Amino acid sequence: MIHFTCDCCGRAIKQACETRYVVRLEVYAAIDDDPNPGADESDHLEEIEDLLERMDDLDEEDDQNLYRQVRYDLCHDCRERFLLNPLGRAVARTGYSEN
Ligand SMILES: [Zn+2]
Repeated sequence: MIHFTCDCCGRAIKQACETRYVVRLEVYAAIDDDPNPGADESDHLEEIEDLLERMDDLDEEDDQNLYRQVRYDLCHDCRERFLLNPLGRAVARTGYSEN
């Protein structure tokens, strides 16, 4: 059996009795040359493909700046915390103790 650990708190996730949650993040340079933003969502895939093609010409460091995709496994508690504050902003009250 494959064992997963929560990428946030480091706790083992026992899949037999609890749900593992996956967070996938894509961060990429915005392409703002669309004169009609939001008009056709299907254009996004082409934009990303264009971006990926352009990235082929760049060195590794520029790739990291233009496009990054990361994936995390989270336990239930960390999922709740993540959804409350996905960008890691300073939040006065989350309802959770830091202990
Ligand atoms: Zn966790």
